[in-house]
Amino acid sequence: MQFKLKSILGHFKILRSLRARIFLIILVVGVIPSVLMRHGIMENYEERAVALRTSTVQTQLRILANHLITYSYLQDNSSEVIGAELDMLSNLYDGRVLIIGGNFKVVKDTYTISEGKIIISEEVIKSFGGESLSNYDSEHGYIEMTTPITETIKLMTDEGEVEKSVVRGVMLTSISTDSIIATMDILSRRAIILETLMIMVIIGIAIVLSDVLTRPFARVTQAINEVKAGYKDESISVPDYLETMHIVDAFNQVLGRMKVLDDSRQEFVANVSHELKTPLASMKVLADSLLSQPDAPVEMYQEFMGDITAEIDRENQIITDLLALVRMDKKVAGLNISSVNINELTELILKRLRPIARKKDVELVFESIRPVTAEVDEVKMTLIISNLVENAIKYNRELGFVKVTLDADHQMFSLEVEDTGIGIPEESLEHIYERFYRVDKSHSREIGGTGLGLAITRSAVLMHRGSITVTSLEGEGTTFLVKIPLSHIAV
Ligand code: ADP
Repeated sequence: MQFKLKSILGHFKILRSLRARIFLIILVVGVIPSVLMRHGIMENYEERAVALRTSTVQTQLRILANHLITYSYLQDNSSEVIGAELDMLSNLYDGRVLIIGGNFKVVKDTYTISEGKIIISEEVIKSFGGESLSNYDSEHGYIEMTTPITETIKLMTDEGEVEKSVVRGVMLTSISTDSIIATMDILSRRAIILETLMIMVIIGIAIVLSDVLTRPFARVTQAINEVKAGYKDESISVPDYLETMHIVDAFNQVLGRMKVLDDSRQEFVANVSHELKTPLASMKVLADSLLSQPDAPVEMYQEFMGDITAEIDRENQIITDLLALVRMDKKVAGLNISSVNINELTELILKRLRPIARKKDVELVFESIRPVTAEVDEVKMTLIISNLVENAIKYNRELGFVKVTLDADHQMFSLEVEDTGIGIPEESLEHIYERFYRVDKSHSREIGGTGLGLAITRSAVLMHRGSITVTSLEGEGTTFLVKIPLSHIAV
């Protein structure tokens, strides 16, 4: 059914327009009842007019039947009174009356054609049984009636005198319904004129209503087009209907998101430029001061060149991190999923980071509660673990420790990185995943932070449909908890 409707809609493209549909619905709803009403009224009129005519004529026929008996017309049809009565009846109703006697012989025919003939039909026989019958032939336009001519006779029986009806003959009458049909014709013509007028009014209403009702949608399109063309960039409003309000609300939300994205893109570009310029500025200051002192000692050259190299390393680190972040943002690139032994991977990363930890006198501990093998992207998983552990070392105190705990349930594995470091102030907790955000800019710079590590980590975790949470107490330490599904959930 739906398929059929769709194919019809496909054929008639115009039907896909809401305006055309509203127009058609109003037209159909308006026209069908008026057509049905006309048919109903006409049919009802015909039925009622025929019934009325039949009952009037039947009454007159019954009176005539009594007269026929009174004047013994069946035996002698010369009575002028009856003749006049018969003429009047047939003239009045444009009909024909046949009076049939007891032997089925036609005693009188107002058309005279059938006089003396024998008529034995079903109706006539039934009427001899005492029944009055009528039948309307709408095709030929006449009503046929049979009326018994009954005589009441008195009989002497054992119980005394009894009255009895005896059928002496039958009247077979047919009257024309031409006058009824003529009235119906006039009525029908008037009804058609009225109906045509009504249809025209309905078409007018349909045109106006379909236009008025769909106008708010045109307004929505116009408002969206204005935004598209750049005339305005604030939110739009078409409050005519709840439906248009919903469309416009959804559009405004998209607009809002686009604005947020645009703002954050601009902020990101500004941050990137700033971050990339800082090492360059330092290098320039160092180089300038060497250039301004032509006879600077070699030690000074060496010290300044060492600083310049450190700045170059830093610049390099920022670019590497930026590239990693951009790669995360490109969701289409997707993940390179394989089955990875997380225990081995963690051990490997910790082994690589141990020398750095040792330099800071920080102890690295790994506790594996159960062996974990998960479907993850190994490179991104490495980034997640090493970023968290590197931070835990970087922001630790001397003689502190970092504890990495690996656990799993039947759906997820969890990696907890706990440190005894400087902690993160509460107001900074919600910002630490932002790009370039650092709690203490100068301290972070000193220890080589770019402010991109946690942004990269969070992106990588989210790409795996996992979660990352942090709890921290300033001066006591920080704990990051990462949870990632054991089997990869494709988008
Ligand atoms: P960075 O390269 O500066 O370390 P991150 O994005 O990795 O950048 O971290 C953002 C900021 O969050 C850091 O500058 C630091 O202030 C804070 N931070 C991250 N991890 C820790 C931690 N384990 N302990 C204390 N502070 C942390």
